[in-house]
Amino acid sequence: MDESLICSAKGCRDAAVWVLAWNNPKLHTPERRKTWLACDEHREHLAQFLGMRGFLKDVVALKDWQEAEGA
Ligand SMILES: [Zn+2]
Repeated sequence: MDESLICSAKGCRDAAVWVLAWNNPKLHTPERRKTWLACDEHREHLAQFLGMRGFLKDVVALKDWQEAEGA
């Protein structure tokens, strides 16, 4: 796994296992997807942060996301 794929939570250096796909309708066109990476511990926290703002579109296991991207 790519060493740069670490959790996006502040201060966390754990390997990411989840991808949170999100979109801010004020900044992004509807098809656009921004992504955050999350470890198991922070997936819920980050998903809640995005969910509260109505930004969260999808939560996908990192390996499934990479397969879908053809990586
Ligand atoms: Zn984390």
